[in-house]
Amino acid sequence: MREIYAHESISRVRLAELTHLSRPSVTELTQGLIERGLITEIGPELVQDKVGKKPTLLALNPDVFQMIGIVLKDSTVIGSLLDLRMQIQAQQTCAMQNRRSDELIQLVIKVIQQMMQQATRPLLGITIGTPGIVDSDSGIVHIAANFGWHDLPLAHILNERFQLPVYVGNDSNLAAIGEYRFGSAQGVHDLVVVEIGEGIGVGILADGRIIQGSTHAAGELGHTPFPTLDEICVCGRRGCLETLVSLWGIRQHARRIAQQNPNSPLNTLAAGGEITIPMVLQAMEMGDPDVIALVEKAASYLGHALLIVTHLLNPKLIILTGSVVELGEHFVQQVRRTIHEHTLPHISSQIDIMVNRLDDRSILLGAGAVLLEQELGL
Ligand SMILES: [Zn+2]
Repeated sequence: MREIYAHESISRVRLAELTHLSRPSVTELTQGLIERGLITEIGPELVQDKVGKKPTLLALNPDVFQMIGIVLKDSTVIGSLLDLRMQIQAQQTCAMQNRRSDELIQLVIKVIQQMMQQATRPLLGITIGTPGIVDSDSGIVHIAANFGWHDLPLAHILNERFQLPVYVGNDSNLAAIGEYRFGSAQGVHDLVVVEIGEGIGVGILADGRIIQGSTHAAGELGHTPFPTLDEICVCGRRGCLETLVSLWGIRQHARRIAQQNPNSPLNTLAAGGEITIPMVLQAMEMGDPDVIALVEKAASYLGHALLIVTHLLNPKLIILTGSVVELGEHFVQQVRRTIHEHTLPHISSQIDIMVNRLDDRSILLGAGAVLLEQELGL
């Protein structure tokens, strides 16, 4: 099944070669998969100048099941219905509108129901990608501070409700799995996905395996305190990286700049309202020196945090993602420069730093990959 999934179409002869199974075994196994509707015969192989009977090709039936992926990103719940080839069949985005705790669970349930109504095939299961400290084995969200979730048995609650297999994963871990299985990191066994949105999430793939840590909190880089930062963090402590490098950190610093400089481009753009990342970007492009300094400072701190990650894990690829990368090329270049300038040459010469603006897409791919693996062994 794995080999069939890896190919668009494949003959039984080729399957026998690849799996080292005997041809009668392949015939018997594929017959079982055909009867379950997981694969179909799609006709003879098109081979030129070959005499005799042409082998029949087999292919995955991507429509035998559909899957639901739920991504909680910044302040939205994004529900998607996928086929087995990760093609999106339906999608819906709902704003959280400050819903927390139970109200947020109810919103997740509502989005799942809407996806179920649009499903045209039996459902394989549901995967939820959320920020925070998540035990993906038990489906418990230990801490998702922004959502007011503490030791929440989310998989259990949703499984009871929908009678379907439910998996819950940390969003950055799912993004790493998604990029590794279906995205731009295919074949990259040592990968770090750094997602900078409301907080910082880091998904670590080492030797092709996700590192969860002893209490499932590996990658909580955002709450590393830096002695030179002094703001109070959402975690209640002082000077965490997130107080500068996150949506709320940038907004907080930018608001102060705007207030202190009533005539600055940023203050004019904000016009007394909320400051957004596009406004910060625009003020930077208009040459606001304080805003440029803020963005450079954030990039430098992120770069220095990633220096430790780089020296510790020696990844082949770092993917920067999340809403904060919308700060643009100047921000990203500064992060790249910090890493390349200060990492041991042996490490920095091998490392790629990429930007991915479609992080919810990566998380969704990871959500689908988990269902394929857990439910179909793919
Ligand atoms: Zn903190």
